[in-house]
Amino acid sequence: MKPLRSEDIAERLDKIRSTLTGGARLVAVSKFHPAEYIEMAHAAGQRLFGESRVQELVEKWEGLRERYPDLVWHFIGPLQTNKVKYIAPFIHMIESVTSERLLLEICRQAQRVGRTIPILLEVHVAREETKSGFSPDELRELLGRIASSPETYRGIALHGLMAMASNVDDEAVIRGEFATVHRLFDEIRSSGLLLQPDLFTELSMGMSGDYPLALREGATLVRVGSAIFGDRA
Ligand SMILES: *Cc1c(COP(=O)(O)O)cnc(C)c1O
Repeated sequence: MKPLRSEDIAERLDKIRSTLTGGARLVAVSKFHPAEYIEMAHAAGQRLFGESRVQELVEKWEGLRERYPDLVWHFIGPLQTNKVKYIAPFIHMIESVTSERLLLEICRQAQRVGRTIPILLEVHVAREETKSGFSPDELRELLGRIASSPETYRGIALHGLMAMASNVDDEAVIRGEFATVHRLFDEIRSSGLLLQPDLFTELSMGMSGDYPLALREGATLVRVGSAIFGDRA
């Protein structure tokens, strides 16, 4: 694979940004790609990056933090509870909160380092069983528990929902799944269950293959990797 040049990355970022509507933001997914690509994207004005492996993220954060203190990092992948401690000191948002056990560990580690960590709860709407996240009912139950016992969940701030659509060609299926998540988001926002309803504003949906559909269904964050940085090794 030929390495990308700054101009390639800048051009791709411009193209994607030109499609963002209604204040939606781009999370540039840099996982498996070298730190140099992050620097090139930074030069092209990108600040928000997504990573999905703890060790890789920590290495990139450590290598870039001094020269690029304005980088913003979202964790978007499967997160093992025993690794939360490594990202708790600096992570700006954990989008992929898929279980109550993980949520409680984020609370614990956030309190340990004296932070409030912004999170999204991941909803499972895709057809693939391999994808993770809360079912809509599990999500409602969890929000009920948080509302009735807020002191148990200190250390996190709930900013919204994250979801992945099925990996299929049928656009109607994908749009339907994104629309389902948006309805759930609206339902939760007006449920009276949220401790800080004003913070609940983010709907993270859409990747390289389906972000235009996600934007049409109300995404506020799109997580795009290969359409910017090329195929991952
Ligand atoms: C890798 C990844 C992405 C980006 O995928 P692309 O198809 O490369 O755009 C988005 N979201 C999550 C959760 C990912 O793991």
